[in-house]
Amino acid sequence: MSNVFYQEKFQDRHNGPRVEEIQEMLGYLGLQSLDQLIDQAVPSQIRLKKALALPTALSEKSFLVKIQQIADKNKVFKSYIGQGYYDVTVPAVIQRNVLENPGWYTQYTPYQAEIAQGRLQALLNFQTAVADLTGLEIANASLLDEATAAAEAMFMLYSARKNKTANVFLVTPNIYPQTLDVLQTRAVPFGVEIRVADLEEENLTEDIFATLIQYPAADGTIKDYTGFTAAAHEKNVTVCAIADLMSLALLTPPGEWGADVVVGNSQRFGVPMGFGGPHAAFFATKEAYKRNIPGRIIGVTSDASGNYALRMALQTREQHIRRDKASSNICTAQALLAIMASFYAVYHGPQGIKNIAKRINDLTKLLDKALQELGYEQINEAYFDTLRIAVGDHVGALKSEALNNELNFFYHEGMVGISLDETTTFEDIETIVRVFAKIKGKSWNDVDLRGLTEQLESSIPSEAVRTSPYLTHPIFNSYHSESEMLRYIKSLEAKDLSLCHSMIPLGSCTMKLNATTEMLPLTWARFGDLHPFAPVDQTSGYMQLINELNDWLSEITGFAKMSFQPNSGAQGEYAGLMVIRAYHESRSEGHRNVCLIPASAHGTNPASASMAGLKVVVVKCDVYGNIDVVDLRTKAEEHAANLNSLMVTYPSTHGVFEESIIEICEIIHQNGGQVYMDGANMNAQVGLTSPGFIGADVCHLNLHKTFCIPHGGGGPGMGPIGVAAHLVPFLPNHEVVEISGEEGISAVSAAPFGSASILTISYAYIAMMGGEGLTDATKTAILNANYIKARLENHYPVLYAGANGRCAHEMILDCRAFKSVGIEVSDIAKRLMDYGFHAPTVSFPVAGTLMVEPTESESKAELDRFCDALIAIRSEIAAVETGEIDQKENVLKHAPHTAEIVSADEWNRPYSRQTAAYPLSYLKVNKFWPSVGRVNDSQGDRTLICSCPSIEEYMEA
Ligand SMILES: *Cc1c(COP(=O)(O)O)cnc(C)c1O
Repeated sequence: MSNVFYQEKFQDRHNGPRVEEIQEMLGYLGLQSLDQLIDQAVPSQIRLKKALALPTALSEKSFLVKIQQIADKNKVFKSYIGQGYYDVTVPAVIQRNVLENPGWYTQYTPYQAEIAQGRLQALLNFQTAVADLTGLEIANASLLDEATAAAEAMFMLYSARKNKTANVFLVTPNIYPQTLDVLQTRAVPFGVEIRVADLEEENLTEDIFATLIQYPAADGTIKDYTGFTAAAHEKNVTVCAIADLMSLALLTPPGEWGADVVVGNSQRFGVPMGFGGPHAAFFATKEAYKRNIPGRIIGVTSDASGNYALRMALQTREQHIRRDKASSNICTAQALLAIMASFYAVYHGPQGIKNIAKRINDLTKLLDKALQELGYEQINEAYFDTLRIAVGDHVGALKSEALNNELNFFYHEGMVGISLDETTTFEDIETIVRVFAKIKGKSWNDVDLRGLTEQLESSIPSEAVRTSPYLTHPIFNSYHSESEMLRYIKSLEAKDLSLCHSMIPLGSCTMKLNATTEMLPLTWARFGDLHPFAPVDQTSGYMQLINELNDWLSEITGFAKMSFQPNSGAQGEYAGLMVIRAYHESRSEGHRNVCLIPASAHGTNPASASMAGLKVVVVKCDVYGNIDVVDLRTKAEEHAANLNSLMVTYPSTHGVFEESIIEICEIIHQNGGQVYMDGANMNAQVGLTSPGFIGADVCHLNLHKTFCIPHGGGGPGMGPIGVAAHLVPFLPNHEVVEISGEEGISAVSAAPFGSASILTISYAYIAMMGGEGLTDATKTAILNANYIKARLENHYPVLYAGANGRCAHEMILDCRAFKSVGIEVSDIAKRLMDYGFHAPTVSFPVAGTLMVEPTESESKAELDRFCDALIAIRSEIAAVETGEIDQKENVLKHAPHTAEIVSADEWNRPYSRQTAAYPLSYLKVNKFWPSVGRVNDSQGDRTLICSCPSIEEYMEA
């Protein structure tokens, strides 16, 4: 469109600084123009020669018109496909106040516990609900999907196996194909053999370390596994069950029949199917395995005043500490969806959940009777929600009649599978009966549905009927009216600092704006209510969206093609490394197993490399924070015969555009390796350079960082990978939905396009920014970072910078010198809370430092407020340095200060209450109060309580 008419640009809303502020900031840096800064910060040899070729930016309004047209191409049929995905009724109070609420979705992962008690409580509720329903002692919060959760269980049980020579995982044939597919992918690098065989005692051979049951089984049948489990334990074989959370309201939980681990998807607890995700998977196990559990665990501890407080427990298991020996590479992991599921349990309570489960089961029994009445053979004797009807030659006719009625069933070898869900009504049963009646040439009036309702018998064998209580805690029994529920949600939200309050300057995590328009389509039924295995002609809207996003991200990364399967950055790393592995194998170089990783790399890198069966060799960094090229060359040449790959983050995790990156890529290629680029820092590249241009072969994008998917308090995420042309044939395939060629690796996620529904967010961002807008955002991110650097470098030493003294999009503030007067970097992090800010990244990639990343979305006013806070804190430290204030009794050591502490009758601190709570004047207009004082980090791990404390303790608190 011509420029005659004024048109508001979305990028002017997305970017923080106004035009005149940009000039002021440039002036502060002694520069004339933004391009001058970019020329100083980004080495010329890696600069793209032409602008991004992306469609013209759309206004917010025209974007909504366009995305509505795309949504209209998706057809929402009633889904009875099952296979791990079910239609749900999202309680509106949860949809609006959690899923659609930036107070919840813009939160960061709860590392700063004192300003995260709300989501920590919601996640603890999730763990409690899972532990209760599965009948096990402890649960995590949470994992990426059911299939990867099963793979994590396999790996945990393999690592903990008693018989170290056993390497076979015995898997039931009655398992969802996508789960088996992912298990197979994950087993290969460890030399674990997946043996698919009936779960019979005689199949429990010496070479088996663990076995996998699905309950109810993939075909819907229910069996009693008590005997089998006992027999397995007798032979030192551990038992994992994949369970359907909803069914466990009626069925004996696997924990009660002896399972050691229970995993599954919590999607049925009020989270839309979303064409595959996002949803939270769960993982429950016995206390004995607590140190081996993958993913995050929330634990109960106390704060400085002895009050109840929560925190993330047992972090020493995680990749940022254990690197390649971590219990898994899980970082981002569906927190927001776990929170939704937990609220669903709170909202319905034990009786409500039971009513829902019973209704599903009753309607299934009714349908069973009706179909038998029509003369059909229904195969499943014992079932919860799934019937299998033998229709033989009638499949074709039945399928087309079902489609005429907008019904999707599951078709498999002359069998029709029908899985009912929470949304199924009596009228839906009538419709299904009518379809089946027509095939038999009968009228649906031949069946007296009302009459049959009177004759229902149990479909669950008596030994599998649950008798134990669950969700007995008051939290699940107190908030069942909407007013109570709303206030409970809001009371937790109020404890948490999110982007609604202030900038969250987390280095490497890119906590930028998640614009409202980007979020709107997510909760439309045309995106939310599609089953991932729905027939392709019902999903053309999604296909268009995915194809366009593929083209755009390929252009942005300089690669040939993307795979949207990985559900997080870490999963992208794993997928990328497996693609590289397949490439080497295709050239008969499958022996290549050495992965070079710089010392400064993010913990997921070595953890993913180890999951991909690679041997990690660490490459040094020089004093400037750059990869030591001499060391890299030496190690690449030393391992040339076995060099698999290099994993490298760019700009480096030190926030610098390394000049030598092109040379680094060449060294790796010369020695037969492939270059894996960790794209977490893509926010500094978009439009200026690209992984493909630089010479990398694969890279993942964290769409939940660079491309505006909100962080959700620790997920959802999407970690698609882009690859150069030679790697395209090896991109992940999927057992159910074919998406790659014959050479494609097997699946890395349960769903073919990962958490497809949140792709709408990144799609919106790119569509509304356009190539120029995206490039301007990158420049602005670099400007914002360099402005902070300039404002702070006289107060805190800034570690590392590029050749011209400029940083990329983030910088590291060195706080190590303050240790000599007893001030730790964590004291600064906690004190920032009193100033209303979330701390930057603490101690990554350098211990004792803060890594600050402002992003382009913050205005100059906000950057200044943040700098003012850090400068004020610096003078508080100075008072300790000069001896004016005691090293232990000071405002930093006692931070953060709660309203309760500050307003207490007693006050015996050597600083004033005013200093504690209102150190700068802006706080008088806008104060965020931490809900607890400093939490005790060690106590929580010593006495790990990871479900809601007992009712007695709860009543006392
Ligand atoms: C965030 C991050 C990752 C991991 O991504 P997840 O989506 O959390 O799995 C990997 N590398 C770097 C440098 C990161 O910042």
